[in-house]
Amino acid sequence: MQLDDLYRRVIMDHYKNPRNRGKFEDDGVTIELNNPTCGDKISLQLQVQDGKVANARFVGEGCSISLSSASMMTDAVKGKTLEEAVAMAEQFSGMMKGEPAEFEYEDIEALSGVNKFPARIKCAMLAWNALRKGVEQADRG
Ligand code: ZN
Repeated sequence: MQLDDLYRRVIMDHYKNPRNRGKFEDDGVTIELNNPTCGDKISLQLQVQDGKVANARFVGEGCSISLSSASMMTDAVKGKTLEEAVAMAEQFSGMMKGEPAEFEYEDIEALSGVNKFPARIKCAMLAWNALRKGVEQADRG
C-alpha cells in the first residue's frame, strides 16, 4: 500500500502515539465494533453532555489505518455537537468514496488516500461507524 509520504507520516504518528487511548472510568456510551476482514477491533466510549461530545476515548487492536483513524476521530469530535459529529462521519464516508473533503482537524485528510484501496476502507471507517452508533445511543438515552 503506497500512500503519499506526508500522509503516511501523519498516520504512523497517530498509530504509534494514539490520542485518547484507554477507557475512562465514569460511565459513557460504549460501542464495540470489529472489522473481520482485517481483524480490527475497537471499543469506543463517548461522554455526551448538553448535546455535545464532552469526551471520547477508545481501546482497540488492529492495523495502522483503523487505529490511526480512531485516534484522529476521538480528537476531532471532542466539543462537537451530536449533529456536527454525525456530519463529520458523513463527510469522512464521502472522502472514502473519493469525494473532496476538508476537516477542521486536518490530520484526518491524511486518510484520504485510503479510498484507492477498497480493502482498507472498512478499516478507516470502523471508528466513524462506532461514532455514529454512539451518537444514536446517546441521543436515545
Ligand atoms: Zn484494518
